Amino acid sequence: MTLSPIIYNQGFMFVRWTHAARSPLFVFAVPAFLAALSTQPALGAGADAFVLWEAWPHTVEVSPIALKHEELRVRLAAIAARYPGLFSIAEEGVSAEGRKIPLLVVGSGPTTILLWSQMHGDEPTATSALLDILEYLGRTQKTPDTERLVSRLTLAIIPMLNPDGAARTRRTNAQGIDVNRDALRLQTPEGRFLKSVRDRLKPSVGCNLHNHSPNVTAGKHGRQVAISLLSVPFDDAFTVNEGRRTTMRMAVLVQQLLEPWAKDRVARYDMDYTARAFGDSMTRWGTPTLLIESGGFFGPDEANTLVRLDFVAILGTLHALADGSLAKVDFKAYDAIPLTTRDRLFDVLVRNARVIGGGGLPPYLADVGLNVASARPGFSGSSPRGTRGGVTEVGDLTDFLGKTEIDLSGRLLVVAPPGGEDGWKKALASLAAHGLATADGFLTVSESNLSAEAKAWLGGAAPLAPGYGGDFLVLVPAGAGRFRVERRISPVGP
Ligand SMILES: [Zn+2]
Repeated sequence: MTLSPIIYNQGFMFVRWTHAARSPLFVFAVPAFLAALSTQPALGAGADAFVLWEAWPHTVEVSPIALKHEELRVRLAAIAARYPGLFSIAEEGVSAEGRKIPLLVVGSGPTTILLWSQMHGDEPTATSALLDILEYLGRTQKTPDTERLVSRLTLAIIPMLNPDGAARTRRTNAQGIDVNRDALRLQTPEGRFLKSVRDRLKPSVGCNLHNHSPNVTAGKHGRQVAISLLSVPFDDAFTVNEGRRTTMRMAVLVQQLLEPWAKDRVARYDMDYTARAFGDSMTRWGTPTLLIESGGFFGPDEANTLVRLDFVAILGTLHALADGSLAKVDFKAYDAIPLTTRDRLFDVLVRNARVIGGGGLPPYLADVGLNVASARPGFSGSSPRGTRGGVTEVGDLTDFLGKTEIDLSGRLLVVAPPGGEDGWKKALASLAAHGLATADGFLTVSESNLSAEAKAWLGGAAPLAPGYGGDFLVLVPAGAGRFRVERRISPVGP
């Protein structure tokens, strides 16, 4: 699809309102749109977030994590064939295992912007977004906005800096080294390549593109973080110089660009100055760098929504760098972006349960926060990487959030016998044999006796506490002092 100049220049209302009508985020779209009108700076037409959102090419139909080095190269070759002259491959680095790492150059402007993705092999979102940006620039090659972008900027793009890690769906490279902690020693070929590109091109700005855990909130009161940003410091004091003002403006702009889809979901990445990391070193070496981390967007098509947000954020920011409108963004608004906050968002948050935890103790009121283990490898776009499924916290979780929340007011949450449904059938048969359950599955046991029974059916396994990884049964009163099982809650996902 090629957007006509009419849509670019006069069609904002049309594009915006049709977006609101079609979007699955319909309920949020109208007020967000009004808010966006009041807060968006006067940007060039090319940076209009709604236009970019609608124009997202979505070229990577597979999940971003499934896109590996070979397919990346095939796709780059296809884009080059579709749009001759769009980019050149200036040079190729070589990974520890011999995979070629192309440096693409788009445009010929006086200001060089260096963008690199997936230096952590299992953080794939931005690689797909960069492919979409290339496709978009190809499709819009003849439009004034793209012509301006490529005449004022030179984009130096390294998609998938760590192809060996990507092949293994893991963070580190083939040497087992975190490339993003190798900026000083330069023992990784990938890190040396990145450093050599930086030293030769001396880019004005860097964009370091990552994913972080999806289970992070924007401040103590915000929602799940979709994207977080860091104007990367060059010293412990977070000294602000002109370069950092630029990346602070970029972060503020991203928050504004994404507000219609990610209101209260954009955060400042909370991290200290790290001398051996690349973003910090780039900034120290004279290339002020913005760290862009995709987080999570719980719901259907999460992984692709993150790509789309990344696409709008990066491309919108490039347009604002090209047309000069970035200078109008108030860098002081950066400090008002909420910080990323960990341990406040669970996959499942069970609220207001009377808990029977298997330790033989009397029931008590508690909330229970659980994370769900995923059978899918690596970054799934929905589950925290590398976490086991199980209980993270028990107690008063009033100020916490769950991607899925279950209110168990008036119900009992009981640790389940091991062995799944079969385990429960055996336990129920045993209860029935002792006159504590009916033949048709009702429990006739008192709460205090049930506590003793639950301890017995755990058979010596550890009772409920952080780290408990078993299932739960939800019991609901069924009249005449009886209970029935309403549902099972398991910390293992698909
Ligand atoms: Zn990373």
